[in-house]
Amino acid sequence: MQIGVPVRLIYIEFEGATHAIRNPEYEFQSDSKFKLWDDCFSFPDLLVYLERSEKIQVRYEDQEGAVRRVEATGALSELLQHEIDHLDGILAIDRALDRNSLCTRDEYIRRYGARG
Ligand SMILES: [Zn+2]
Repeated sequence: MQIGVPVRLIYIEFEGATHAIRNPEYEFQSDSKFKLWDDCFSFPDLLVYLERSEKIQVRYEDQEGAVRRVEATGALSELLQHEIDHLDGILAIDRALDRNSLCTRDEYIRRYGARG
């Protein structure tokens, strides 16, 4: 997403609520990683096998400009890293681990069943 103001902004939907996250910065990214098949609305028919930090801490501003911090593991950690990557112009495909790390959604479903 590109917007013409000098604010780095992402909206995430998590556990039924929408959160505005302005100017996120990592304060911590664990060295321990997990691997997953990631997908993206930018290329809906493709999944990418990649690595994310298990645990992160992110400093950001809420819609009123108040500084907040979120510590995340699991699904939220994965989501935040995906969206912060977008702000930095990095797509999941840029993080593909190797030449076998791309998979069409049809093939993925054949291999593993439907996702989420
Ligand atoms: Zn995406």
